[in-house]
Amino acid sequence: MSRGITILGATGSVGQSTLDLIGRAPDDWHVHAVTANTDAVALAAIARACNAELAVVGDHGAYQDLKAALSGSGIAVASGKAALVEAAERPADIVMSAIVGAAGLAPTLAAVRRGAVIALANKESLVCAGDIVTAAARQSGARLLPVDSEHNAIYQIFDHDHPERVARVILTASGGPFRKASVEAMRAATPGQACNHPVWSMGAKISVDSATMMNKGLELIEAHHLFPVSADQLGVIVHPQSVVHSFVEYIDGSVLAQLGTPDMRTPIAYTLAHPERMATPCKRLNLAEIGKLEFEEPDLERFPALGLAWDALRTGGAMPTALNAANEVAVAAFLAGEIGFLDIAALVRDVLDALDGGGHHVPHRPHRAGLDDHGRPRLVPLQRAAPRDRRARRVH
Ligand code: NDP
Repeated sequence: MSRGITILGATGSVGQSTLDLIGRAPDDWHVHAVTANTDAVALAAIARACNAELAVVGDHGAYQDLKAALSGSGIAVASGKAALVEAAERPADIVMSAIVGAAGLAPTLAAVRRGAVIALANKESLVCAGDIVTAAARQSGARLLPVDSEHNAIYQIFDHDHPERVARVILTASGGPFRKASVEAMRAATPGQACNHPVWSMGAKISVDSATMMNKGLELIEAHHLFPVSADQLGVIVHPQSVVHSFVEYIDGSVLAQLGTPDMRTPIAYTLAHPERMATPCKRLNLAEIGKLEFEEPDLERFPALGLAWDALRTGGAMPTALNAANEVAVAAFLAGEIGFLDIAALVRDVLDALDGGGHHVPHRPHRAGLDDHGRPRLVPLQRAAPRDRRARRVH
């Protein structure tokens, strides 16, 4: 019997990997809807190839092109934000949530509210509205299956029945293209350099987030919503080979990890087949061939975005939403050549500072992330961490 699927963000990197997998067993899948934002030509080709019932572009300006490209196909077409939500509301068993940015929130939430299985790549929906999305999932019975390779790894090794047995969850980070770069080199970095990830081939926004390490910060917040762990139980370790996808440490000192070659089709396949497993064409892991796995502490001096995200997670309330919004605007400005690479974290910091100092409601914040003398993260009492604290970590 075939399973129904809707793919939000079908023209993107995660969308393409999803289509690659379901295209290998087309009889197993029935595609309810596929969506994109502006790329009507690519979406029409996808809709025809997978015989979708409905194709939706978020941008009304792309509607006529989509309609023309699908004319005579029998595939329904629509455009706009409401149509994206309607696509998610179609009765597919599983919804691949792979729109980039906060634009993914409304359709993802619509799928959650109707109790679908959600393959969740769109981390921004959890970062900006994690409490709302998870509460809706509890109410509807929707299952959130993380696509992000780190969270997918944690999902596979976490003792969901006994979370009290988990001491810590440690996310691995590739370190991005500027892992070894000087601050001067980062100041002059172009969008092309920032998007040139050494391991993963991804969309532009997440590639820049990887380069600033904001991606890992967003993932900390995502992990906090997906798993019953506090900010203090979360850690980050840089692992340039991206073979160990994350660790879960138990109270007895045992540490479990999930490994695999860095290919998004592995975690995507996990979400598509759950609770079964499906075969993938991904390269098999050969540790003897790799020879050496490296690990190092993240450098919060050169990558202040990670510290800002940690701040926002500890603060809670509207801070993660503001962090995400500021980051999306800053990354878009960087990609458009309007600001420099280092300005991304500086802009996010300014927005968080403005919220702190502007009389906005900020819940009780006992601690704030800082650096010890060796540049390692430590906790400092809030009263010593005025908004200036973030400025102190600005990369000049
Ligand atoms: P891409 O940029 O490759 O693709 C984004 C998709 O979203 C495209 O289909 C795009 O359509 C669509 N889209 C963009 N803006 C809007 C909008 N305003 N409204 C509706 N649709 C829109 O992104 P990725 O596939 O790399 O990433 C998607 C999500 O998955 C992100 O949240 C990312 O963080 C997460 N993720 C990605 C990973 C990866 O390996 N790529 C790994 C882990 C998580 P169009 O083509 O028309 O612009």
